Amino acid sequence: MSDAAAYRRASAPTGEDTTGGRRLSLVGRVGPALLSLCLAAAPLAAQVPRPETVLGFRPGADSMLASWAQIADFFGRLAATSPRVRLDTIGSTTQGRPYLLATISDPANLARRASLIAAQRRLADPRTLDSATEARLFATQPAVILISCSIHSTEIAASQMSLELAYRLATDSALGAALRDVVVLLVPSANPDGIDIVGDWYRRTKGTPFDGSSPPWLYHPYVGHDNNRDWFMLTQPETRHLTRVLYRLWFPEVVYDIHQMGGDGSRLFLPPFADPVNPNLDGVLVAAIGHVGAAMATALADAGRTGVGHQTSFDLWWHGGNRSVPVRHNMIGILSEAASVRIASPVQLRPNDLRQPARGVNFPLPWPGGWWRLRDIVDYELTASEALVRLASRERTDFVRRFVGAGRRAVEAGRSETPSAYLIPPAQRDEGARVQLANLLLATGIEIFRARTPFTADGRAYPAGTLVIPLAQPFRAHVKDLLERQVYPERRLYPGGPLIPPYDVTGWTLPLTMAVTVDSVRSPVTADVERIDSLAPTPGRLAGTGDVVLLANRSNAEATAVWRALAGGAAVEFAPAPFDAAGRSWPAGTLVVRGARATLERAAAELGFDAASVPRLAAARGAPGAPALRRVPRVGLYKSWNGSMDEGWTRWVLERLGVPFASLADSAMRGGNLRARFDVIVLPSESPAQIRSGRPAGSAPPEYTGGLGSAGVDALRAFLQAGGTVVALEQASLFAIEDLAAPATVVHRGRGPRESQAAVRFSAPGSIFAVNVDQAHPLASGMDSVAAIYFDSSPILDAAPGGRVIASYGRDGSPLLSGFVQGAEMLAGRAALIEAPVGAGRVILFGFSPQHRGQTNGTFKLLTNAILYGAAQAGRTVPGR
Ligand SMILES: [Zn+2]
Repeated sequence: MSDAAAYRRASAPTGEDTTGGRRLSLVGRVGPALLSLCLAAAPLAAQVPRPETVLGFRPGADSMLASWAQIADFFGRLAATSPRVRLDTIGSTTQGRPYLLATISDPANLARRASLIAAQRRLADPRTLDSATEARLFATQPAVILISCSIHSTEIAASQMSLELAYRLATDSALGAALRDVVVLLVPSANPDGIDIVGDWYRRTKGTPFDGSSPPWLYHPYVGHDNNRDWFMLTQPETRHLTRVLYRLWFPEVVYDIHQMGGDGSRLFLPPFADPVNPNLDGVLVAAIGHVGAAMATALADAGRTGVGHQTSFDLWWHGGNRSVPVRHNMIGILSEAASVRIASPVQLRPNDLRQPARGVNFPLPWPGGWWRLRDIVDYELTASEALVRLASRERTDFVRRFVGAGRRAVEAGRSETPSAYLIPPAQRDEGARVQLANLLLATGIEIFRARTPFTADGRAYPAGTLVIPLAQPFRAHVKDLLERQVYPERRLYPGGPLIPPYDVTGWTLPLTMAVTVDSVRSPVTADVERIDSLAPTPGRLAGTGDVVLLANRSNAEATAVWRALAGGAAVEFAPAPFDAAGRSWPAGTLVVRGARATLERAAAELGFDAASVPRLAAARGAPGAPALRRVPRVGLYKSWNGSMDEGWTRWVLERLGVPFASLADSAMRGGNLRARFDVIVLPSESPAQIRSGRPAGSAPPEYTGGLGSAGVDALRAFLQAGGTVVALEQASLFAIEDLAAPATVVHRGRGPRESQAAVRFSAPGSIFAVNVDQAHPLASGMDSVAAIYFDSSPILDAAPGGRVIASYGRDGSPLLSGFVQGAEMLAGRAALIEAPVGAGRVILFGFSPQHRGQTNGTFKLLTNAILYGAAQAGRTVPGR
């Protein structure tokens, strides 16, 4: 959902639902088919509660939303009374709510659930199927479909719809007959916390001038809307719970993810998706995705539900969503996107308000306009979901056979095409990143082996402990797409014409973002290997016996260790120049820690990094001017009322790395006196207007509007004058340059007011670039001379006099490593990371995203270094510190 301004404000009308479309019957009829299948002890369907009986209102009624407790209560009662429904809590959410999965099928199927699960596992890996088993499963195995609701919590209709869908599956006789051939895995919400975050806000503002507005905070506690961009990185518990169901337990043939979009276009988007198609996708699956979308669209047309469109915006390129990861697991991954209302409040659209596509093959039945209600969305989604159940029942064998066929083609491609395997050597700059990469692949069903002895591949020697990922495995597309470099095809409206902008990010190559060395090999690998299920870090070691500990700072774990040391009273210094100690040379930027030997020894063993210690360090100690810390830095993280995902990701990364901080709201910033309380203030990426002005007056209760305002801007300026450090991420760099007088210039703003298509000179929406790093600067501590950074329509900067460039793009050629760029020449020689002095303080300007969606382990360090260095420099301005 986007562009709330596009919705018409509407007062909630009274009276009956005036939806033009056919009403779906709510009355479940107990047909003979069901009765004959019910066990004698099974309760009668008449005892199955209707959603409205439990809720006190019909799902989708104007201005009414079921809370998560009500949804859980209904599903509990349904499972207790219907022999077709089983309810499992598959984990706990970020805020501790139960994450629910309803398994709905014919009672005979539920009775043999364990054997169905075992059979799905074999179907998912055709190498385990002999021809007799295959024939038997083609004849007997039901199709398995997973329907996931409202991962985006303001797109809340599907969570309400799920109650009625479950009730109808439990009670309707025709659907009951279909369930002999289908297992439905129903996720009432993929973000239960968000159902209450949005529902509570909606109920609080209902009937006020802010009725139907978006909450002033994220609807997933950390990552908001990006929760549907977490399906390969698995940073959040909600993603991990469902990933286990998808790729370790049930292996469904179809995954249907239900969304909403802006309110003024087509009523419902359904596949076929738009171009481009990622080269790793199986072409048969691409066809089948269109087939399922067409079946749903036809059912909607038959039911008189108009305004269904195809092939707009949503493409088949990007990876990371809960429709795109399944396709790389040989599943049919689809989504629908319904036109939104104002959360649960109806809207009225006159023909002039509509921005529908022209009538055509992708939009055969335009919607005439009128009232559009939550119930309309429920009805559309219900029709589409039931159409999927009926299709899977009619074409059960085709679905099962297609799943096996795609797996078989993937294995065959892995045998006949290159690369044949990926190898991850054990010695890496960051053991934690190596382990995390292996574990997120294992969690998504990828087969990984560990070499027991040294071996040779493509003429290179690899030690024991090397991880071997052969590509002759069923989910080849997933692992290949994550480990190889993306080459996004440039697409134009017509030859030489305007660029067609990509739908989402264009590159995500994990070895680059995580800074893990992964080799691809062409020839088949022969090695003595064992299969692994999970990987733990190899314990690290603190060599030597002295009390002065030297950290090369190559891993993120070392940053964590430094914060633990600081909390224990240690002193930390950035070595200002290279030096020799403990029998080796150490680069500038080495962290010298005194007074925390035991803490660091424990951290090295637990987190998997090596370090050295010496009794004293006369030579390198404190060349004058070496930035040093004597106590725990006081860090503030700005948290606007705009619900910034970048703020959430920054918060998540800092918490994960063990960096303590305080969140700072607008009121705290406006209150001033910041230098007395903080050494470093981090500004997550938001536009200057968003930071300065926040939500406009009248769009939310007054305490959530107005942004920093001039008082907040003045307070930040005073903070800098008094020696504080501001770390400005991406778009916030523009704010620091324009409002805080950071000495730098803006070459290109990145995001921002949309240029007209024809005027687009530069475009890089989610690409990985190479930058040169000035290793002499403490900010670059632990970094290599060239780093891979994540650039997501980020600003391009240049230093002004007084500023110092720490990372910059090369002067020749394109810095593109993965993804897409138009206008690469605009980057040549420009800055990506700058230290810009202001008053007695400084702003550290990031022209990229060092913590992009929690994926960029390779550049987290630049953020933690900026905080440590910034605090060390700030400390100089406060006497006695
Ligand atoms: Zn969505």
